[in-house]
Amino acid sequence: MTLQTIKNVDENLDDYVSCDYIVVGAGVSGLTAAQALQSAGKNVCVFEKARGTGGRLGSKRVSFENENQQGGFDLGASAFCAKTELFKNYLGELQALNKVTLVDPVASSYVAEPRNSALTRHMSNSINVNFSEKISRIEFKNDKWFLFCQTQADARQPQASRSDEFVMACCHHLILAMPAEQASALLPAGHVAESWIAHTESDPVFVSCFIFPYGSMSVSDLLSINQFSSDVIANISLEHLKPGRNLTEFPMIKVTSTSGWAKQHLDKHFDDIASYLFQDLNKQFSLNGIATPDYLKQYTHRWLYSQYSNLIKGTKGYLSFSDGIHIVGDYFDVQTDIEGQSIDGVERAFLSAHKLVEHLAEQSQYALSSKVK
Ligand SMILES: Cc1cc2nc3c(=O)[nH]c(=O)nc-3n(C[C@H](O)[C@H](O)[C@H](O)COP(=O)(O)OP(=O)(O)OC[C@H]3O[C@@H](n4cnc5c(N)ncnc54)[C@H](O)[C@@H]3O)c2cc1C
Repeated sequence: MTLQTIKNVDENLDDYVSCDYIVVGAGVSGLTAAQALQSAGKNVCVFEKARGTGGRLGSKRVSFENENQQGGFDLGASAFCAKTELFKNYLGELQALNKVTLVDPVASSYVAEPRNSALTRHMSNSINVNFSEKISRIEFKNDKWFLFCQTQADARQPQASRSDEFVMACCHHLILAMPAEQASALLPAGHVAESWIAHTESDPVFVSCFIFPYGSMSVSDLLSINQFSSDVIANISLEHLKPGRNLTEFPMIKVTSTSGWAKQHLDKHFDDIASYLFQDLNKQFSLNGIATPDYLKQYTHRWLYSQYSNLIKGTKGYLSFSDGIHIVGDYFDVQTDIEGQSIDGVERAFLSAHKLVEHLAEQSQYALSSKVK
């Protein structure tokens, strides 16, 4: 699709570039929906505000040692579990393509290679994803949803000022695939979806990844950390030891804060956050008799919305309205036939999108492909 940027929704509505389905968000839920709809022959396009796919399953590339070395780590989820047959089968097919690896068969936990964002990058193959396009507003007119974007001056719009708002595209079916708080901000005031998603609450967390000098920590030392007691750090992930990562001799340790600690430090400078987290990491290492060397480089990120503890119940795992608004994500309670096991965020995002597309296909009577592309 060629993007057309038009300032207002005016009389010539037929002039606008139109898709059957537009998805906002190129994370797991948005791309699962886009992939299934495109496989069913639908005309789909995706808008993503970031420069790449993944969202909360995203990864970060970093260079260090005078920029000579390039590595990467998973900024969001460190790994993802598959408990349902549907997700297991999906990941099984990707495993056969060497895109994901089963790292813990008991927990049925996977990582993608060479970074977790490779999963969504693979999902986005052959899908029309428009990156760096943040949808700022949506408007319903003449039976269609119009998507607006606030664009800075660029090659496409050299005359644009920062505050210029443009229509990006329009569609009959608009799928919002992003954290509930962000979907809520896009909905027109008073939309019925609001009452469903307004009360979800996700936890903020900070993530810092510390990169240490070549060979500075032995694998056996790192794997021996068995005492762990902290109100600051919720999780330590040895990013360089995951399968398929290169530069395995440069220890990359990712530390995720507790959400309680993050809530108290939301406005702190990221350098201070990294320094607090490093201090606490040192404490955990010394508890285990390991000396922590100074790091070469660190990267810190704040996730305002990470994971949801209170899920929306009483839906079929998504929201779908007759005006063409559909909402998917990891904040829906997706009913499964797995008893006594909770489903984690990535799998919930996948199942939510799947359930929505099944519903749309049934409603409009088209067939879905069961094959992973
Ligand atoms: C630190 C951390 C650790 C986690 N650990 C785990 C774990 O161990 N296991 C697990 O299963 N899950 C985990 N999760 C949660 C998991 O990552 C999410 O449940 C899952 O990735 C959600 O996918 P999604 O596609 O629904 O949403 P997202 O991944 O949030 O995707 C939404 C996308 O929409 C885009 N977007 C938002 N607003 C707009 C806009 N206005 N215009 C255009 N684009 C927009 C965003 O940039 C983003 O790419 C973790 C998350 C974090 C942050």
